[in-house]
Amino acid sequence: MTFRLLALAGLAACFASCSGPATGPGNSLSPDEWGHRPGPKGFGTVIIDAGHGGKDPGAVSHGVREKDLALDTAKRLQRYLSGKVRTVLMRSGDEFIDLDVRASRASGKSGAILVSLHYNSSGAGIRGPETYYWRVDSHGLATRIQRGMVAVSPSESGNRGMVRRRLRLTRNPDVPCVLAEIGYLSNASEARLCADPVYREKMAAALAKAILDQQANGDAGTGALPKPIYAPPSRPTDPAGS
Ligand SMILES: [Zn+2]
Repeated sequence: MTFRLLALAGLAACFASCSGPATGPGNSLSPDEWGHRPGPKGFGTVIIDAGHGGKDPGAVSHGVREKDLALDTAKRLQRYLSGKVRTVLMRSGDEFIDLDVRASRASGKSGAILVSLHYNSSGAGIRGPETYYWRVDSHGLATRIQRGMVAVSPSESGNRGMVRRRLRLTRNPDVPCVLAEIGYLSNASEARLCADPVYREKMAAALAKAILDQQANGDAGTGALPKPIYAPPSRPTDPAGS
């Protein structure tokens, strides 16, 4: 409890000091606690986070495991980005890494962005890609990633769009960060698609194009920025979806 109060006091202090010019648009390649700024352009590093791993399989449905598909897609994405931007894989094998550890590993890195890759699970009738973000400086990249995935996804899957949600991997890193849910493994036909390496290769190519478009153009053409929201870091004890 004491730690929590101290953390909140720290956030209150940051609320005061982080709203100054140091977080202005000219610094969008520097780490920033809140990300209340336009999205980055010209970043040098892409941290690719394959969701889940080790003891945490993520979604398991229709004979496939999220952790396997996420890692495979992360490696495909890395190959597409290779030679164009520095890449770092959060995990390169079947390894469990706590979400808080992932967030802290991605933080403090100038000129870096974080892209977390997942496959989703819900009711059998729900399908289609969706993209989660929280920070203002992640909106443009999220827009590009969602557009890219929808262009690959068959039209009957639909477009579940972008979701602004405070998650440990969308709120807590101090660099622009986006979480892509590539498809629903709980939907039989989408699970079949996602299990197909050819489909994952197309998705990886689309994700790479979205990232490189953001690197070249910043937020241009991605619409109005969302309003800043002041909220504390996401904690494992927070209610789901908060
Ligand atoms: Zn997941």
